[in-house]
Amino acid sequence: HPVFNSLSDRLTATFKNLRGKGRLTEADIDGTAREIRRALLDADVAVPVVREFIARVKARSLGSEVSEALNPGQQVVKIVNEELVGILGGQTRELQFAKHPPTIIMLAGLQGAGKTTLAGKLAYRLKNQGHTPMLVACDLQRPNAVNQLQVGGGRAGVPVYAPHPGVSSEAETPTGDPVQVARAGVAEAREKLHDVVIIDTAGRLGVDTELMQQAADIKSAVGAHEVLFVIDAMIGQDAVTTAQSFNEGVDFTGVVLSKLDGDARGGAALSVASVTGKPVMYASTGEGLKDFEVFHPDRMARRILD
Ligand code: GDP
Repeated sequence: HPVFNSLSDRLTATFKNLRGKGRLTEADIDGTAREIRRALLDADVAVPVVREFIARVKARSLGSEVSEALNPGQQVVKIVNEELVGILGGQTRELQFAKHPPTIIMLAGLQGAGKTTLAGKLAYRLKNQGHTPMLVACDLQRPNAVNQLQVGGGRAGVPVYAPHPGVSSEAETPTGDPVQVARAGVAEAREKLHDVVIIDTAGRLGVDTELMQQAADIKSAVGAHEVLFVIDAMIGQDAVTTAQSFNEGVDFTGVVLSKLDGDARGGAALSVASVTGKPVMYASTGEGLKDFEVFHPDRMARRILD
């Protein structure tokens, strides 16, 4: 992913210096740790995450993890890889479907994070897997969000429940109570036997208590099984504080990194799983319906270190 290119190049260059060394001195390990630290910080990985990461890599590299198959340099790369998988959330985590359908998935995040776009992609993916999803438009804040969800749903071939059947103009912002809309949408999905409901919610440009409360209210009103926090990988260090606020406000179940196709430094996004303790579940890589993938921490770490 472009957002990790520069980090990837820096780490690869660092490891090149270790290649072929028969044994590593403490100075070698210190020097390597310092370079990795700088590369992570330059990539915008959050400071506490970097600190912890480096401490673990150093301790493990200095410790007696002797391997017959790997030379000392390879051993350090292996440790860095494992620690990177760790900060990315460890195991791959996919959606958990409710025992009694419909499974209710709610999307939360700042305005512009990519929620509405994601809603269409997720619906499309689930439909192709044989599910019968329905989208519910509860972003009554951003002009055009309902309309945009209807367009996305149309492309994905998935029905959209929207508050006002009459919302036709792009400029019109629908009014209504998002909590009521969510309830009514879920009721309709139940009645029509959809097995998954995806609820798009409103975001603001910054974290906002009223809106957070609205998201929390929707979550409890419909009993959401999954709350996916969508974060723009390009917003830099704000990613961490935003993620922490949403984690406290709505206690989300998983993270979606969006805009991994961008060219800004994406390191802050790599910190989100680590600082919230919630797994990254999906990555969004463009505006198209198919620009979307399950996030595998091990594969992502390997790609960054390759
Ligand atoms: P929302 O306010 O959270 O619903 O955000 P939107 O879904 O409307 O997305 C905001 C903007 O980002 C739109 O112009 C989208 O087309 C764009 N966008 C969303 N996801 C991605 C992505 O993964 N990559 C890129 N390049 N653009 C994206």
